[in-house]
Amino acid sequence: MREIQELNAEGCVLVPTMGALHEGHLSLVHRAREVSDTGLVVVSIFVNPTQFNARSDLDAYPRDLERDLNLLDGTGVDVVFCPSVDEMYPPAADVRVPPLPAVAVMPALEDAGRPGHFAGVCQVVSRLFDVCAPSSAVFGEKDWQQLQVVRAMVRTQGRAIEIIAGPIVREQDGLAMSSRNSRLDVRGRERALSLRRALEASGGCANVEQAERVMHEVLDARVDAVHYATVRDAVTLMPVEEMVGEMRALVCAEVGGVRLLDNGPWPRQS
Ligand code: AMP
Repeated sequence: MREIQELNAEGCVLVPTMGALHEGHLSLVHRAREVSDTGLVVVSIFVNPTQFNARSDLDAYPRDLERDLNLLDGTGVDVVFCPSVDEMYPPAADVRVPPLPAVAVMPALEDAGRPGHFAGVCQVVSRLFDVCAPSSAVFGEKDWQQLQVVRAMVRTQGRAIEIIAGPIVREQDGLAMSSRNSRLDVRGRERALSLRRALEASGGCANVEQAERVMHEVLDARVDAVHYATVRDAVTLMPVEEMVGEMRALVCAEVGGVRLLDNGPWPRQS
């Protein structure tokens, strides 16, 4: 870890990941390379135990470092940082969970569905920011609430780190890429397309209630459980009271035991 800070005199661009890389992650690395003039591009690969709710989910999380390193080859990354759990959370370092911003606890979206998840995310991201001292960091819009949580946390902590958002990268048929997609069987893979279809179907609706109803109609028949299908303020993720400002449609559903997320701007951008 000392070496990273020594390498890093000018401030790096950090791309935090949990590995099991796909084109979505690689797009963030390309974005990092674009915005970094002279600094290093650092990709971290760390399956953070503190952000998992269930031990079984942590154990089932796909891990293949050799494959990840091969994928990163040629992307312009300078440092791949793969700490162990002991290095990230040494008992003597007393790595605390920072105060959580409202967007991590109030919206009743991922915060409600995965209690403690954002505490783990804020803890690991804070620790990565301390260790890598980036001048900017790239996060995917795929995890929209996480992106807003990190932005709010950086503001609260007064860190001079620019948070850059990368758009969602999708498979050809529209499914948002995710490391969890590999756990879907053929039928589940087909049913998973309904998340994207629900977002598309809601795009032309005239109001939030109608948009939410349409998303539920598309999802209810095809997935095992709908955790939420909602339109929210894009930054606070609280319910929309007046249709002003940026809004976001967000869906989360269970398909074949896999929790899938997707989101998009709402209403449809013409
Ligand atoms: P993860 O390895 O799942 O923790 O994700 C690491 C980063 O990649 C996060 O900022 C995610 O939002 C981002 N990411 C994951 N999937 C995608 C995707 N399909 N498109 C863009 N970014 C993604």
